[in-house]
Amino acid sequence: MINVSIKVAQARARRALVSDSRGLLTVAALTALLLLSCWPRIENPPNHYSKIPQPIRLRPSALSDLVVLMVLDGVRWQDVFQGVDPLLERRFGPVHQSARQPHELLPNLYRLASNGGMLIGNDAAPMFASSPSTVSLPGYSEIFSGRTPTCENNDCPNTREPTLLDEWIEKRSADRLAIISSWSRIPRVAAKDTSRITVSAGRTDLSRPESIYQDAELRSQYYRGTSSDPWPGADNYRPDRFTSAIALRYLMVQRPNFLFVGLGDTDEFAHRGDYDGYIGALRSADVAIGVVGDWLETQRAQGRRAMFIVTADHGRSAGFQHHGGTPEASRVWALLSGFGVMEHRISNIPSNRLADLAPTIRAQLNLPKDDDSRAGESLLQNVSPATIYYVSRRANREKPPSRALGLSSVVGVRASSPFGKSCPE
Ligand SMILES: [Zn+2]
Repeated sequence: MINVSIKVAQARARRALVSDSRGLLTVAALTALLLLSCWPRIENPPNHYSKIPQPIRLRPSALSDLVVLMVLDGVRWQDVFQGVDPLLERRFGPVHQSARQPHELLPNLYRLASNGGMLIGNDAAPMFASSPSTVSLPGYSEIFSGRTPTCENNDCPNTREPTLLDEWIEKRSADRLAIISSWSRIPRVAAKDTSRITVSAGRTDLSRPESIYQDAELRSQYYRGTSSDPWPGADNYRPDRFTSAIALRYLMVQRPNFLFVGLGDTDEFAHRGDYDGYIGALRSADVAIGVVGDWLETQRAQGRRAMFIVTADHGRSAGFQHHGGTPEASRVWALLSGFGVMEHRISNIPSNRLADLAPTIRAQLNLPKDDDSRAGESLLQNVSPATIYYVSRRANREKPPSRALGLSSVVGVRASSPFGKSCPE
């Protein structure tokens, strides 16, 4: 019996190793693709994460939860669900790439959605930022606090209310948390106390530097970012290609329990009226989404409970270039993937907002529910089957019907949907 158990354990270990190797190969391939395909305005992009680290063998006792939360600043729901917008091309110039349909534009996002995840924010399941102010910092504040934000502009001081991360640190003191972002102001609203969180925000803002400096490649990537030109942003802004490289390397080498990745080139290009640049930045972000998704799969194979959320802090005005007002620029979207997403039975309360993301994470971590009147609700309880856009395998292969400008009529049933045939076709 003992021998059998040992053999089973050995077989499991071999499978995990193979799975890990495959995951790393995929990560390496996607990394190469990112370096070859992204940021078309940058010629000969530097090779930021060509050296994929060897996986560290974690002891079972070290296995733990992992949440990656990625925010793509100012990415419109229309581009996510409808693809390249010909009206905006007429106004701002053509997009110089062949990917036009949503599944082509964001292949990794849709792959994760179809592989047991869920993508929320189309006409059947609209999702909104709660703040009447449609600028960025209130959106980030809502994401981290899980409440309707009190922050009303981009000059908000450091938050005085505890956030999801404050509670995470209080209840799970051994966990490692990191915030890596292109825009330097995000940490202001991420936590009341960021002293326990590794932060690399903008080109120069860095706390707990030892976790960056420990790894030579990570240190080198960080320094490349500090000396970069902030374009397409300004001031202390760090272009996404540096932020992505640091975040992905950090994820693989330092193995945090929580990683926030804040990418901002989409918003910067949009403000410049550069729709082609915006779409290029979105494509690049999708490559990073693919790398994270594949890495999380290797972690799940090792027994970690890994969850991945991708969203936007706000939408855009009908004119695209600026934020505009509510409700047009309040509308956002979100991808939920990984642990807990597939397993949950979901009830029928079709009201989704950014404030629901933190409660969703809380529920997965068994953190206590926030009873504040401004708090959101976990999406895994609140989103009804009818309001979720389940991407079916068929929808991944086929072009959406032309009558559906949104993809609401292509709502499909994922292969092993917990709702079976109750999901609308
Ligand atoms: Zn903006």
